[in-house]
Amino acid sequence: MESWNTRRERIVKILNTSYPVSLEDLCQELRVFDKRIVLEDLHHIALTLKKKNIKLVMMPPSCSRCGFIFKDLKKLKMPSRCPRCKNERISSPLFQIQ
Ligand SMILES: [Zn+2]
Repeated sequence: MESWNTRRERIVKILNTSYPVSLEDLCQELRVFDKRIVLEDLHHIALTLKKKNIKLVMMPPSCSRCGFIFKDLKKLKMPSRCPRCKNERISSPLFQIQ
């Protein structure tokens, strides 16, 4: 098991591209299949980058049925279902370092 430090460095490298990367792709790339771990890493990365005036941009997840957008993602927590139509198929959020 690699240290969190190394994993977060890898995340920064992966996200430092010209296109946004989905949470799913990020999990696959890292071979970490618990999204909460990766979201936790992203949260810490966002705070670290903020000090350097670099922004970790998140394109929020949305409901695949009614299009509801989860804009108020406090602490980058992945929603489990749509508050409007109760659909559980929520699209993956996208991340990019700018
Ligand atoms: Zn919905």
